[in-house]
Amino acid sequence: MADQVLVINCGSSSLKFAVLDGTENPPILEGIADRLGSEHSSITFKHNGTKQEQRLYDNDHRAAVAAIKKWINKHPEAGISLAGVGHRVVHGGETFSQSVTINDEVLKGIEDCSVFAPLHNPAHVKGIKETQALFGDLPQVAVFDTAFHQTLSADQYLYPIPMRLYREHHFRKYGFHGTSYRYISQKLSELEPTYGAENALIAHLGNGASVCATCKGQSVDTSMGITPLEGLMMGTRSGSLDPSLLSFIADAEGITMEDALNVLNKESGLKGISEISNDCRTLETAQAQGDDRAQLALDMFSSRAAKHLASVSTNLSSLEHLVFTGGIGENSPLIREAICQRLQTLGIKIDRNTNQTAPRGEITCISPADAPVKVWIIPTNEELLIAQDTLHLINQDTATTRSA
Ligand code: ADP
Repeated sequence: MADQVLVINCGSSSLKFAVLDGTENPPILEGIADRLGSEHSSITFKHNGTKQEQRLYDNDHRAAVAAIKKWINKHPEAGISLAGVGHRVVHGGETFSQSVTINDEVLKGIEDCSVFAPLHNPAHVKGIKETQALFGDLPQVAVFDTAFHQTLSADQYLYPIPMRLYREHHFRKYGFHGTSYRYISQKLSELEPTYGAENALIAHLGNGASVCATCKGQSVDTSMGITPLEGLMMGTRSGSLDPSLLSFIADAEGITMEDALNVLNKESGLKGISEISNDCRTLETAQAQGDDRAQLALDMFSSRAAKHLASVSTNLSSLEHLVFTGGIGENSPLIREAICQRLQTLGIKIDRNTNQTAPRGEITCISPADAPVKVWIIPTNEELLIAQDTLHLINQDTATTRSA
């Protein structure tokens, strides 16, 4: 029986994909179509330890999906038999609080949320339509980055601005990285059977970075807002700051508000402060060679991450776990230590040696045995959760059809 899922993450000029079997097994096939819409677009296929790259002469999303279909058809030895397609969707607004099977109404709902994610949601819609056209016989499922945070209470999701703006325009905090937080939450409940009654802080630190507080496995607060710009300092995003800066930047630089927003989204964060790179690893190397600006950028990153963790912890009555995930959270002992050092008042302690020597890609508890808060490194796997949701919904829909 077909039990594999094609997971698609469609951006405006890229399309990442993976074929998974819904278990922790590595993807059977994965790759990325890059620079879509340009003359230089190409697609890579990684399978069985080998990587192939192909030019995409028709350089649009359809060509990328067609190339994936062609690869699967040309490689029967890979044994790919798809049960469905799972799409990562950035913004589900207040419409979607869980993953759903895609139909016309769902597609319209995703289109309607484009107002909050003008770069991402239209690209997702395009990717879904092309996939429907080329894999028409397969069920398609949408998994939303915002859905996990739909459990936030009104006192947390509302901005202290006129209520009318929420009523009329749905301006509120939505939060992101929800698929990662749900995956981590599930992993924690497997590791610690008591987690179902406990509280946790989760730091998803990658190029995009946010934190989340969970109570009994549900999100009660998170740092990102109506867009992913709010909260922590990130690779190129400033994170939270005085909103008046936006008009100061626009006036001083003679640019539009939209361009000023671009400065905060694309030219700030680690990149803006270091003037070297948005990449944490590059900055750690520069810092080790004595670069003061790399050091300043990393110090600011850790300090802000710690502040936001402390901030969301005010919604918890106790704290049992702190989890680090994402490219930086999983791989940077330096950042983990700097953050934990600032959170001693929350009872957070780590074992320096375990933190330094934690094996890459593995779940590790880095707090001492007697520490009041367990500090974990848990590698995230958003693609796996998307594949599992897709298989779950397909099975549910099949059962409903059978019993009807
Ligand atoms: P994205 O938000 O794009 O998914 P990732 O979760 O892949 O980002 O994280 C990318 C970040 O992780 C980069 O800043 C990268 O430098 C950092 N990173 C990866 N490996 C290491 C490492 N060994 N040490 C420090 N930082 C690392």
